Amino acid sequence: MTAKQLLLKKIKEYERIIIHGHTRPDGDCYGAQFGLYNIIKETYPTKKVFVVGEESEYVSFVGTPDKIKDEAYQGALSIVVDTGSENRISDQRYKLAKEIFKIDHHVEEDDSFYANYYWVDDSLPSCSQMIADFYESYQDQLKLSFLGARAMYVGIVTDTGRFRYRGVNRRTHELAGMLLDFGVDIEDIDNKLSVDDMNSIRLKGEVLSNFVTTEGGFIYYIMKKEMMTKMNVSHESASAMVNNLAGIEGYPVWALFIESADEYRIRLRSRGPEIQQLATKWRGGGHQKAAGATLKDLNELDEFISDVEKLIKDEKSSQNK
Ligand code: AMP
Repeated sequence: MTAKQLLLKKIKEYERIIIHGHTRPDGDCYGAQFGLYNIIKETYPTKKVFVVGEESEYVSFVGTPDKIKDEAYQGALSIVVDTGSENRISDQRYKLAKEIFKIDHHVEEDDSFYANYYWVDDSLPSCSQMIADFYESYQDQLKLSFLGARAMYVGIVTDTGRFRYRGVNRRTHELAGMLLDFGVDIEDIDNKLSVDDMNSIRLKGEVLSNFVTTEGGFIYYIMKKEMMTKMNVSHESASAMVNNLAGIEGYPVWALFIESADEYRIRLRSRGPEIQQLATKWRGGGHQKAAGATLKDLNELDEFISDVEKLIKDEKSSQNK
């Protein structure tokens, strides 16, 4: 039995299904969660289905997670989407369920094996594409409506950087096209995703004026708590600033270090060397060109920078061979 067939079997088997995503959810996490929710609810209206976990301000139009009690997990199936590592699952009560099914597109690491059943394919550019593919594969048995289609479309466009990143292929566009047939309005979605508030624009000015560059080709900005307070932006909006350091000539790797309670979270990006292993070394993980990691404090910064510079240098010398 394939992983997709098993997913269908498990969905049919359980009367209560709880869909989890990751901490600091993004468009793809919401897209996969609310897309799957919609498919199950439309197809089996009597099943009890919940989406749980943290809220996202950025894609709040996609849906709002439910608040549920511990008892809801009794005899239930937890489905965890878009979450590579166990410690990033949002709402750790997922393990109270009778069984756990993981659906994901991240590179597997030591702490990736937290479920009973797995459908993992790290060649795919978004988890929402997996859910859309699941629907399409069994559309003779499954139903989908506008809200689910829109959620998955948002997931696909956000995680592929609007169809620009590696992993996007014919199938991505075919499935996006299938979702558009449900009435998804691309202009409306682009407006919702592209319009920034004035505080974010001011913070963007700060990031673009005060980034740091290193001789070895790394560019970064350290987002301090005081700056987020001063500019009156949420942690989520401040985190989005990583994209403003993309595409700067001579700097193939870029990062945003975001101060949180007792550490610095790193949002790391590359258009050159593969960075996933480096991210794993630095308490994180993700994909080859977009990953997350952690610094305990800024005393670790120099070592992190030299690791990044080494990657850039090694890539350059392998190209010159
Ligand atoms: P982000 O910078 O948070 O958008 O993360 C980029 C990619 O790396 C996403 O696919 C995340 O799921 C993944 N990622 C981020 N932080 C971590 C972490 N601490 N551990 C494992 N994967 C992560």
